[in-house]
Amino acid sequence: DVTHGRILYLEDVSVSFDGFKAIDRLSLDIAPGELRCVIGPNGAGKTTMMDIITGKTRPDAGTVYFGSTIDLLRHTEPQIAELGIGRKFQKPTVYEQLTVYENLELSLRTDKGVAASMRFRIDSAQADRLAEVLHTIHLADAVTRQAGTLSHGQKQWLEIGMLLMQQPRLLLLDEPVAGMTDEETVRTAELFLSLKGRHSLMVVEHDMSFIRRISDIVTVLCDGSVLAQGTLDEVQADERVIEVYLGR
Ligand code: ADP
Repeated sequence: DVTHGRILYLEDVSVSFDGFKAIDRLSLDIAPGELRCVIGPNGAGKTTMMDIITGKTRPDAGTVYFGSTIDLLRHTEPQIAELGIGRKFQKPTVYEQLTVYENLELSLRTDKGVAASMRFRIDSAQADRLAEVLHTIHLADAVTRQAGTLSHGQKQWLEIGMLLMQQPRLLLLDEPVAGMTDEETVRTAELFLSLKGRHSLMVVEHDMSFIRRISDIVTVLCDGSVLAQGTLDEVQADERVIEVYLGR
């Protein structure tokens, strides 16, 4: 087993845009249940890496495995979502006119194009999951609130809840605490820590106080490959990391 039991396994992945190597022989892996933070200066390749994992961008070379058996390069973007890789972009995208409950319920529907507010029945297992997700995302007291009236942070939690309803094995999150208040950031850290172990997470972030609260291992990307990896203290003390953050 080349993936050594890893949930996500990238080896020597490269992609160029018009001759420019955005990802350059990137190798990285994530263990099941791990919460990995990825940092790196602008243009390091963080978004492109997530695009490759989710099938939005096809690499020119390399290996991308999900678990030990699934070659992600043989799957399309919708198939990869179906396999259990959930992605959250930076901006929250919730249905503002619907309640918190309806948003979570709707996330189970595959035919979202059909009248969004149309009622459909969820089974009892899904109802149990919905109740559990509500607690996880700190919105159990806001079930009937219209999503449009939630704070920015609450909208972000709701969107994470919508992903959790799909029971993903791997979650990719892009700057989840950007724009949040300090209190929301602390509560988001609690939320992420409660997911650790049950889900595998890859979190791209810039907020070091948040990273310090949640992460075991931090990966530093630069020029499309891994510059350094270790605890936050280790990477922050690394001369090469200091140079790319201060020297550019
Ligand atoms: P990050 O998310 O770390 O800021 P990106 O993955 O967005 O970095 O970008 C990595 C590099 O690839 C940047 O130099 C960016 O300009 C370039 N790039 C990303 N996507 C494209 C694209 N579709 N076409 C051309 N260049 C791109």
